[in-house]
Amino acid sequence: MPLLVCTKCGVTMRPKKTGVTAIEYRDPQLIDPYRLYSCDRYICHLCGASVLTGWGKPVEHYDSRFEEKVKEAEDCGEIIKFF
Ligand SMILES: [Zn+2]
Repeated sequence: MPLLVCTKCGVTMRPKKTGVTAIEYRDPQLIDPYRLYSCDRYICHLCGASVLTGWGKPVEHYDSRFEEKVKEAEDCGEIIKFF
């Protein structure tokens, strides 16, 4: 596990949640999903800044399970979308 440090506060970041779903999009409008990941969210306990780390192997857009996995994630709670 990498050591994550908040550069603003000078403290190590702590795990907030493991098994966070993150979806990577091909477009800044977040319309066209490309990869789905499971990762971990770490947070700075002083300023609240957070980062995603511990990325697992993604489910790719061409995978036959991709649309099903995206729908499952959308129905089940917190998703972080990024471009
Ligand atoms: Zn901080």
